[in-house]
Amino acid sequence: MSASEEKFYRPRITQRVDLSPTLWTFRIRPDGAFTFVPGQYATLGVETDKKRWERPYSIVSAPFENEIEFFLELVPEGDLTPLLYQLQLGDELLMRKVAKGRFTLDVESGPTHHLLICTVTGVAPFVSYLRTLRRQWDEGRFRGEHKLFLLNGASRSWEFGYHDELIRYVQEVPWFQYLPTISRPWEDPGWTGETGRVDDIIRKYVDRWNLRTNNAIAYLCGHPEMIEHSKGILKRVGFRQEFVREEFYWVPPKAPPQSS
Ligand SMILES: Cc1cc2nc3c(=O)[nH]c(=O)nc-3n(C[C@H](O)[C@H](O)[C@H](O)COP(=O)(O)OP(=O)(O)OC[C@H]3O[C@@H](n4cnc5c(N)ncnc54)[C@H](O)[C@@H]3O)c2cc1C
Repeated sequence: MSASEEKFYRPRITQRVDLSPTLWTFRIRPDGAFTFVPGQYATLGVETDKKRWERPYSIVSAPFENEIEFFLELVPEGDLTPLLYQLQLGDELLMRKVAKGRFTLDVESGPTHHLLICTVTGVAPFVSYLRTLRRQWDEGRFRGEHKLFLLNGASRSWEFGYHDELIRYVQEVPWFQYLPTISRPWEDPGWTGETGRVDDIIRKYVDRWNLRTNNAIAYLCGHPEMIEHSKGILKRVGFRQEFVREEFYWVPPKAPPQSS
């Protein structure tokens, strides 16, 4: 067995759902044990004759599921996503055998209110938290002592990959609130919900949900600009730095120096 075979599984795609020309979800069945905590990411890869491309992807599914699910955005000029985007049912990819990451639900530090803020594919780790808690709730192992509040931002409503599932949780459990918002309502005239960028509505929903800064912890996931803006807003409403967790999905390219 080569060194790379020891480190990687070669799972196949078992399900693929396209949400838009650049957004899709898919499921894979790992060909061996794969353990993770909700909020962690897997490293996925594709080998071409030139080299192996790898990137981290947050896991959408919960550990009790027998398949691993992901929610991806195509970056047309990127190295890996155009290769992943070509994969269809039955096709094989690479996945490192070890999950990583610390963007997990913190139920140890004290706060019992968890404000989850994301853009588009950044909802992935939060769906994993929710599926896990939902199962534990059904089994009587979680009694609603932690409450989750999700602000989910996208440009248009069809980019909310898990909208129906999240609405269902709101209807079914007392410990979850969900607020989706779109920033381009003029491109989505049928949308009747909240509008504006997700960072623009944080203050309103912190007040509405009565999230007190001594009892709440915030988690920011996805677009780097959203995370930076949100951090500033959360600081101004009184969140302490140690109670703001972040998962940047990419680093924005540096602006070229301005000529004088
Ligand atoms: C912990 C972690 C978890 C992640 N989870 C997910 C996930 O669940 N779903 C997901 O789609 N991505 C996720 N990402 C991002 C992912 O790892 C890749 O960076 C992304 O898919 C682009 O890969 P690429 O090789 O196609 O583009 P690259 O060749 O890596 O990037 C090309 C350029 O595009 C920029 N870029 C990268 N991603 C985006 C984007 N979405 N929008 C605009 N510009 C971008 C890069 O900064 C770079 O300048 C995660 C990243 C991290 C660090």
